[in-house]
Amino acid sequence: MADCIFCSIVAGDIASEILHATERTVAFRDINPQADLHVLVVPRDHYANVAELAEGDPASMAEVVTSARAVAVVAGYDDYRLVFNTGAAAGQTVFHAHAHVLAGAMKGLPE
Ligand code: 5GP
Ligand code: ZN
Repeated sequence: MADCIFCSIVAGDIASEILHATERTVAFRDINPQADLHVLVVPRDHYANVAELAEGDPASMAEVVTSARAVAVVAGYDDYRLVFNTGAAAGQTVFHAHAHVLAGAMKGLPE
């Protein structure tokens, strides 16, 4: 989708530190980390939020969650937090579905 930051990261048009990629997902470090580990996992296809992703492509939704686990475990964390801000009033600023993967010491929830 045009003018979507995360579509541009998936396409490689905007640089990011990619930690993990699967057929349906890409995981990269958040530019403004709120925890020792703060990674975003996004579906390659554009959905505005996690609910639309779950409805439109359940396999990708599942792969976001399993990719999040893989990223956390590789970084040395068996325990981690997944956050899906949904809607502007809840803090969502990028309207391409994404999981925040947070582990270790946390500053706060991603805004
Ligand atoms: P939201 O607020 O929508 O839940 O989360 C969006 C997240 O994307 C924020 O935590 C923000 O720091 C991150 N972010 C925004 N732009 C970029 C970018 O260009 N590169 C990376 N790596 N992260 C970004
Ligand atoms: Zn997008």
